[in-house]
Amino acid sequence: PPSPPRPHVVLVASPGAGHLNPMAELARRLVAHHGLAATLVTIPDPSAGPKPNDAHSAAATLSSTGFATIVLPSVPLDDLPADAPIGTVLFELIARSIPHLRALLRDVAAASPPLAALVPDLFAAATLPLAAELAVPGYLFIPASLTALHVMRTLVELHDDASSGEYRDLPDPLLFPCGAALRHEDVPVGMEDSKAPVYAQIVEEGRRYRLAAGFLVNTFYEMEPAAVEEFKVAAERGTFPPVYPVGPFVRSGSEEDATSPCVTEWLDRQPNGSVVYVSFGSAGALSVEQTAELAAGLEDSGHRFLWVVRMPSLDGENHSDMGKRGDLSGGEEDDPLAWLPEGFLDRTSGRGLAVRSWAPQVRVLSHPATAAFVSHCGWNSTLESVSYGVPMVAWPLYAEQRMNAVFLSESVGVALQPCARVSDGVIGREEVAEVVRELMEGEKGRAVRRRTGDLRQAADMAWAPEGSSRRAMEEVAGRWRAAALGREEVRQ
Ligand code: UDP
Repeated sequence: PPSPPRPHVVLVASPGAGHLNPMAELARRLVAHHGLAATLVTIPDPSAGPKPNDAHSAAATLSSTGFATIVLPSVPLDDLPADAPIGTVLFELIARSIPHLRALLRDVAAASPPLAALVPDLFAAATLPLAAELAVPGYLFIPASLTALHVMRTLVELHDDASSGEYRDLPDPLLFPCGAALRHEDVPVGMEDSKAPVYAQIVEEGRRYRLAAGFLVNTFYEMEPAAVEEFKVAAERGTFPPVYPVGPFVRSGSEEDATSPCVTEWLDRQPNGSVVYVSFGSAGALSVEQTAELAAGLEDSGHRFLWVVRMPSLDGENHSDMGKRGDLSGGEEDDPLAWLPEGFLDRTSGRGLAVRSWAPQVRVLSHPATAAFVSHCGWNSTLESVSYGVPMVAWPLYAEQRMNAVFLSESVGVALQPCARVSDGVIGREEVAEVVRELMEGEKGRAVRRRTGDLRQAADMAWAPEGSSRRAMEEVAGRWRAAALGREEVRQ
């Protein structure tokens, strides 16, 4: 007899490599391991003009096989103020894309195979009512940590009870299920101050989270055991939907092979375990001064390095350039390497490679020459580093990265965190050199390297047959398949 049709899951990714990459990997695995068909719906990046990283993430998606991708028509956002925070831009983009998504879902639902579930990501909870309209389950995908979801849940709970105030009114530091202590200044951007323009939108989004039938979170048990247990209790009490740790969703390096031959060829020529990889994600920008101190520190450390240099921010701050419309980021004529200190490239040639804006990161982290990662602590970068056993120097810039940095260095033990100068917040050259040397050669570094190795094994196990994440995913996927095929029988 012919095999039954594969029920169809529609995933919705908000713009940004950090959202798109793990969701593409989730889609690939739903098809490869869970008997489902998948369509990944993407929403065009609101930034004006193509940026180099957009092209790369699109390429990453298309090269993955086994699922379809659809780009929704772009929606106008020119009425938003030019300095609107990235959160506001993303929430507006999703809200305005709902009519397009509804039309698409109706087409999918009318076709055979049947629609099995709708899976929007953390910025797209406003699409969950579409799942209800079509009578299919809506699960939210969290490309961030379970701890980040905990922070969001707590934020909303603070506002359920109007008398309890906001994070700022709670004791400083905040204590987490994992035992880490989070200072108020390290609370994720936008959540730290109820007067911030995006705050009300975040609370509203967090309320919509309660409409989800469940959460698929890009983490695994050993990474956040206390948070997993804590969410189990919340689900049993019925105070929050069930949470499934189903990660890590990390691409394989071979997918990126063709993208930057010069980087891999250079790595191939370096000794095993010798290179410090330095990168601040798809949107990180350092100030000009911080760029100079980092360069000097790498030079002083004496170690080999591979640095993905992005355009500096010109306002003296270290932050994200994502979602900025029509500003300095990414024009052809801008050469980030031109901002490095005079003579730096010559003095370090032979042991250092600086590349413009983008590197095939998974390829780099999985290369035997790579020994350490100076990272902005984006959650995908973190999982990629852990999955390939590369210890980190935690250098957070924006979003929830400061929280991740605290958590990785104080609770998980896979990172060392350098100290910024009190006077101006800059991490000085001596500190850079010292933290790099400590991670590569020191005693504290040894403990971090050992812990990272242990966690790597746990990450491998999570998606082995019978691994915890794979079983959790199958539990959900099995339910989706059964319900969809049941509905299909009724329909015929
Ligand atoms: N990335 C990459 N090359 C780069 C910078 C980033 O391949 O030069 C990828 C990286 O591997 C990760 C994603 O882009 O999958 C960035 O996600 P993350 O959550 O680490 O940070 P974000 O960019 O969202 O701040």
